[in-house]
Amino acid sequence: MKKVKILDSIVNDFTEDSLKQELKASFNGQKGCLYAKVNTEFLLRAREDKNFAATLDQFDYSIADGIGVLWAAKFLSRPVVSNKILRTVQVNWQWLYTSLSLVFYPKYVRNPIPERIPGVDCLYLMLESAIETDSPVYILGAEEKVLVTAIDNLQEKYPKLRIVGHHEGYNFSDKAVIDEINRSGAKLLVVALGSPKQEYWIKDNIEKLPSVRVAVGEGGSFDFIAGTFKRAPRWMQKIGLEWLWRLFMNKNKTHSGGRARRIWNAVPVFMYAIVKSKINNEV
Ligand code: UDP
Repeated sequence: MKKVKILDSIVNDFTEDSLKQELKASFNGQKGCLYAKVNTEFLLRAREDKNFAATLDQFDYSIADGIGVLWAAKFLSRPVVSNKILRTVQVNWQWLYTSLSLVFYPKYVRNPIPERIPGVDCLYLMLESAIETDSPVYILGAEEKVLVTAIDNLQEKYPKLRIVGHHEGYNFSDKAVIDEINRSGAKLLVVALGSPKQEYWIKDNIEKLPSVRVAVGEGGSFDFIAGTFKRAPRWMQKIGLEWLWRLFMNKNKTHSGGRARRIWNAVPVFMYAIVKSKINNEV
């Protein structure tokens, strides 16, 4: 499996199939494997916050969650000359044609990272792997009502899924949750506290959770599974704009700034950071 460096983070070149294989290996392995789902906001945060970047370094795998990550990997893979003036012109040209390809020929950006695996689909894939390896699941996060409805919906979709425990994500003691997870013997731990809280929680506590083989930072998937938020229309999912829908639907309980600010960060601020780092040869 290849790894691609984007700004200060490493992203794996997963396809749905290779991710499934890796998950199976993790479930059958001896240690806890940490999975992060990476979008453009996430990559930007890792650049700006060294503590978050160091936390991500401890994760074993990063899954590309949006088309922006595929775009960045493609854009950075284009070669450049060493002369700074020529490189600046070249990088701007590369920015233009790789961005236009998102609209006119999205297949172009599917290399070096071939697939984006959006949040909810990725969670389904993990749950299916848990069923296939008979791995029990524990869920931490989301509001109580949302979580209970989401679990009901998941049990209906996957009657063989073994959810052995859950806890809402606003009012809990780490110790009580850790004890509960250990008593449950869960092998898949889904932590949906929003980023970066969920990644910090996983990093700080994984050593205390010997039964867990796969831990993943989930974000807002349970709000969609519970039906609190509707998933993006099919056409938006198809052209890779589900991330935009998610940011738009987000009522923003955990993030500073509003929806407009998140979209601003996810697109122009992110692109600017990538272009600048390439011109300055920092990548
Ligand atoms: N959440 C939580 N505890 C918190 C903050 C957030 O359980 O202290 C939950 C929230 O209810 C939502 C999920 O974390 O279900 C993800 O939050 P958000 O939508 O802000 O994250 P995103 O998916 O946009 O990264």
